[in-house]
Amino acid sequence: MADFEVPELKEELEIPPVHQGVTSHLKPFVADAQFQEPLGYPGELVENWQEVAINKMGELLGKYRSLRVFLDICVKCGACTDKCHYYLGTTDGNNMPVARQDLMRRVYRRYFTLGGKYFPKLVGAVDLTKEVLDQWYSYYHQCSQCRRCSVFCPYGIDTAEISMAAREILDSVGVGQKYCNEIIGKVIKIGNNLGLPQPALADTLEGLEEEVKMDTGVDVRFPLDEKGAEVLLVTPSADFFAEPHVDGLIGYAKVFHQAGISWTLSSYASEAANFGMFIGSYENMRRLALRIREAALDLGVKRIVFGECGHAWRVAYAFLNTLAGPFDFLDPKYPVPQHICEVTYDLIKRGALKLDPSANDHRRVTFHDSCNVARATRMGDFPGGQFVIPREILRSVCNHFYDMPPEAAYDATFCCGGGGGLLTDDLIELRVKGALPRMQALKHVVEEYGVTHLVAICAICKSQFTKVMPYYGFEMDQILSLHQLVGDALVFEAQA
Ligand code: SF4
Ligand code: SF4
Repeated sequence: MADFEVPELKEELEIPPVHQGVTSHLKPFVADAQFQEPLGYPGELVENWQEVAINKMGELLGKYRSLRVFLDICVKCGACTDKCHYYLGTTDGNNMPVARQDLMRRVYRRYFTLGGKYFPKLVGAVDLTKEVLDQWYSYYHQCSQCRRCSVFCPYGIDTAEISMAAREILDSVGVGQKYCNEIIGKVIKIGNNLGLPQPALADTLEGLEEEVKMDTGVDVRFPLDEKGAEVLLVTPSADFFAEPHVDGLIGYAKVFHQAGISWTLSSYASEAANFGMFIGSYENMRRLALRIREAALDLGVKRIVFGECGHAWRVAYAFLNTLAGPFDFLDPKYPVPQHICEVTYDLIKRGALKLDPSANDHRRVTFHDSCNVARATRMGDFPGGQFVIPREILRSVCNHFYDMPPEAAYDATFCCGGGGGLLTDDLIELRVKGALPRMQALKHVVEEYGVTHLVAICAICKSQFTKVMPYYGFEMDQILSLHQLVGDALVFEAQA
């Protein structure tokens, strides 16, 4: 099935011997001018690229204090070396987080430190050559910006931030990544990652209304562009058609219906994903976030709720207010923004949903903590809410829930292998190999508890698992949306 070697699932996760450079050939397609220029980047490698790159690095070092600190303070303790799923899956030493950081650190030292300027060899500084730039392109696109390494670093050095900065520098010299930049362009032009125009979206939603009516006998609505609705739901566009995402969207709609909350989607802001973060571009992240503000104002909603999407929630939770705020026109009773899990959890706690968990008795489930939710956000108003709330929802809607081992869950969770803008077929080898630690943990709960399904709250994780699970002997439909289980457990009068 694969034209590369798929790692073997063993009894437990092993730390492999290093094979330096074995994945240096893995890199995503480079964006051409049509995808670069709409984002404000040169269409191809500029002639004076070295000067432009170093100036850009200087600008970022001035703008982001953390970047300079991260490049300065590593003591080479080695605590992060075996923590990256891409190292564990590929065995390439350059995928050890400290080595990945060093690709930029050596250049930083050369141009921005006294020692590096005068005694480069002594301090391990190197010139920014074309070869180094090519290495950056490969290995900063072999980082899903998952932040697992930062949890284990005694100084909290965040490789994700370094990787974002590297990608921004690459974009600024004209070497951007096609997958991300094409998608950002589509959202700017049409409103969602898929380039799905309003009539197609309206059609899809109508189809979902008919499907739910047939299944449940209930008129659950999927409103689009309805002015005066209470909630604007901003959800990843994969929720409109991909499996198992769409079953999650059906679940949200059923929750709103039973709780009597009026809601709407927006055709102008029909995308929760914000790939501006993956390429480290504040400007592009802001352009996408502003569409949500404009849609909320135009529709006159009182709340903004995000659907199941890990990095979208990270952008929303951490940055939406500074990117596109103030949101003083929304109802102050609710946080801005809210996660759909917070909405559902609150309704469950208040007894506002009628649930029958036995509806999911044919499933034995485990939960995948998506890295962006786990390590870059929170839910609810208490520490650790991002871990507790999805699990509490699961326990309310399903009688058979089993957690993965703690070293592979909560803030130590492993990335699905496809995050950070790497969910593209040109990186399938990396994605399959990077999924190894997560698949190993899944194997454990399958063997120990007879788990049949993996549940996630991230659109990228769901797409990635659908694709890579068969490489490890699992079925592609063993991945489910959390709100599919919620939707299946909801009891409606028409069914009673
Ligand atoms: S952020 Fe994640 S993918 Fe990147 S180096 Fe750290 S552990 Fe690896
Ligand atoms: S754990 Fe932190 S300080 Fe230690 S080598 Fe890794 S990045 Fe450097």
